Amino acid sequence: PSIQYEQMRRKILNGVQEMWYFASGELKKMQKQALALSPQLATRITRVLEEGVVHKRSLMTDIDTLMEVDGYAAWREKEASDLSDLVQRRLDYLQNPEDCGSARKLVCNLNKGCGYGCQLHHLVYCFTVAYGTERTLILKSRGWRYRKAGWEEVFLPVSRTCTDPSGRTHSHWPGRPDTQVVELPIVDSLSPRPPYLPLAVPKDLAPRLARLHGDPIVWWIGQFLKFLLRPQEATSNMIQEASVKLGFKRPIVGVHIRRTDKVGTEAAFHSLEEYMAAVDEYYNLLEMKQKVDRRRVYLASDDPKVITEAQRKYPEYDILGDSNVAKTAAVSTRYSDTSLNGIILDIHFLSLCDYLVCTFSSQVCRVAYEIMQTLYPDAAKRFRSLDDIYYYGGQSSHIQIAVLPHRARDVNEMNLEQGDLVGIAGNHWDGYSKGKNLRTNQIGLYPSFKAQDRIEAADFPTYPQVPL
Ligand code: GDP
Repeated sequence: PSIQYEQMRRKILNGVQEMWYFASGELKKMQKQALALSPQLATRITRVLEEGVVHKRSLMTDIDTLMEVDGYAAWREKEASDLSDLVQRRLDYLQNPEDCGSARKLVCNLNKGCGYGCQLHHLVYCFTVAYGTERTLILKSRGWRYRKAGWEEVFLPVSRTCTDPSGRTHSHWPGRPDTQVVELPIVDSLSPRPPYLPLAVPKDLAPRLARLHGDPIVWWIGQFLKFLLRPQEATSNMIQEASVKLGFKRPIVGVHIRRTDKVGTEAAFHSLEEYMAAVDEYYNLLEMKQKVDRRRVYLASDDPKVITEAQRKYPEYDILGDSNVAKTAAVSTRYSDTSLNGIILDIHFLSLCDYLVCTFSSQVCRVAYEIMQTLYPDAAKRFRSLDDIYYYGGQSSHIQIAVLPHRARDVNEMNLEQGDLVGIAGNHWDGYSKGKNLRTNQIGLYPSFKAQDRIEAADFPTYPQVPL
């Protein structure tokens, strides 16, 4: 398929979604006003909402079917697997130098003072810098807050041939090209910032990714997680046993409800009902296309109460999830072996779900979403976040390009000319996004469908030693 065809197909799907966010959002506001003025009008609006959502589902199903009948499914599968294979072989090459004694190294300490998802993102950041500088990543993880013995007790070592951090010459970041060992700080204090931090993807892969995938950066991050999270045998057995015990089966929607220490500090509270409304909508859409024997949810949380609440309030659902696992996530017991097992399992099962409903303000859900990309040619749309759009901690700014002009209709909105660059801050999931127009410096709302992500292709090494 041409890149134009693949991008247009995704643009239409996105447009339908955004149009319904807009229309349903506005109608719900009108409905509130109508309730006080005219009960008949309110009833009428309810009917429009009920019928309108069926229109939307029908359109989305058609676009999905188009993708099945256009004859490119086999190409998508093969391209995804070829691309992943190429990146995995490059990482294997980078990580396994023949002579560790002379290899150029980048040393990364796993123990950033934060949670498991945050630490995984820290590790992936180190790995992308290693890839960008063609240095073998050396991981220091002894005394890790989640597992004292270190990373290698849980996952395969990041190298078979080179784990020794010593060398002739040492330096803090950035060092010189001939410095053998460079120590990398956390991204928050990284200076200077290299061009290959997220949201950058390698220029030599960008055209292929732009055709294959709806959000290349998420795919790119997923590839590093795929390499890093290869389990040790004990971990693999634990996952296998948990899977049997749970009765994990598809179709299934993964729901992550982040509560406890996050709420009120870094994120707002969202009720179980808000998450479940999105799950309902996923299944309503799916049922247009196929019969669903049973609606299943995999529910992960750091709040054990929400799992029993879901099982009580939603008897028409199979709610898979373990409140004992959620209990270990409490801040008081969080940094421990049992808690680590729990979060490994939760992220694993979330990533295996058909769709994710969560808050992208949580790194737990973002990691699951990133891993999910390794399991489909393009899983960019398989989520509903109740708050943020996807981001990567420490990322350079997220730029969109206006594809249609816009005239602000009130003080909250901003103008757009076609081609304007916009630094997007967030999508309000009501038809509007908020951002800053980089031409005018105006900050405000704009209709989400009038701008599209720009793919950040940067110069990375191209690993000519690894065959294409
Ligand atoms: P964030 O704080 O939500 O962005 O994610 P982090 O992963 O950085 O830190 C949160 C930590 O809380 C996790 O790493 C877990 O240790 C724990 N946690 C949060 N949510 C869950 C969950 O759904 N299941 C389990 N088992 N642990 C969780």
